[in-house]
Amino acid sequence: MSYCKDCGREIDWMQTAEGRYIPVDPDPEFVIEGDGDESFYTEEEGILTGRRATPEEVQTREAKINTPLGFVPHWRTCPCRGEFRQKGG
Ligand SMILES: [Zn+2]
Repeated sequence: MSYCKDCGREIDWMQTAEGRYIPVDPDPEFVIEGDGDESFYTEEEGILTGRRATPEEVQTREAKINTPLGFVPHWRTCPCRGEFRQKGG
């Protein structure tokens, strides 16, 4: 476990298919794929594109099984994200 240099929150590092390491929040979120343009990172399936599910959308056990989990890049949640320098979008 490491900590964000800017805000001090816990972060994890995840390796992308290209071999790049990106900082992510430690707790994965349920992702509604194909509805939105945010990127979520998974170990098995690479990058999912969609949006974060609301709690109402994953209330049932079945919904939890069928909804993929993805990690949110920390720069999207970092309160100091203005300091983050992203290269190449
Ligand atoms: Zn941060």
